[in-house]
Amino acid sequence: MIITIDGPAGAGKSTVAKLLAAQLHIAYLDTGAMYRAVTLKGRRASLKEKDEEAWVDLAKKTTVALQDANGKLKVFLDDEDVSEEIRSDEVTEQVRYVAQIPGVRDVMVKCQRNFSRGRDMVGEGRDLGTVVFPEADFKFYLDADAHERLQRRARELKAKGEKVDDGKLQENMKHRDTMDQTRPASPLKPAPDSSVIDSTRLSAAEVVAKMIQVIQHG
Ligand code: C5P
Repeated sequence: MIITIDGPAGAGKSTVAKLLAAQLHIAYLDTGAMYRAVTLKGRRASLKEKDEEAWVDLAKKTTVALQDANGKLKVFLDDEDVSEEIRSDEVTEQVRYVAQIPGVRDVMVKCQRNFSRGRDMVGEGRDLGTVVFPEADFKFYLDADAHERLQRRARELKAKGEKVDDGKLQENMKHRDTMDQTRPASPLKPAPDSSVIDSTRLSAAEVVAKMIQVIQHG
């Protein structure tokens, strides 16, 4: 069984996908973490955003592994644990440029399909229902209004002890969503056969309950 959850930043995809995976005892695939890991590696190699060929080359030579550690996701870049570093402001700021390179996406999509081989999973990202797993058993598109998404992201960062500049965060989220939605390669949009859930006034547990209902009763 493959379940996909796509949607913009701050809609609650990660929280919900982790809860759903735990409840169904199936694997969890965070595809944003993969794009973030490649971005981090390219930053370390001082790649220029415009040098698309170099990014594709780098992606081809990169291994990203995801591991569940007691309900917490660990992300390994070529065997190095980068779970924290891929969430830095710098990576968050740059990842949208890397994610719009078609050749980088091709490499990531292959890895994501490999991950799904022989296991049931919940995957979350931007193009899982539309491009990566068009034959998925259940597809969800999770959205929430922009103000609520901003608040959630700010709370999440503050809970990690980070200082949050609301204005900067809002700018970043707006730019990232716009670019994710308008890029030619695999733009963020609901798959025509997805169930759209607006999580603005719902808790994560309530969203999961709605999803389970769809999964059990169609
Ligand atoms: O989900 P997360 O915020 O970690 O994703 C980071 C970025 O990676 C997104 O803003 C998007 O640019 C890119 N991404 C993507 N396709 C996916 C997952 C993430 O383009 N399937």
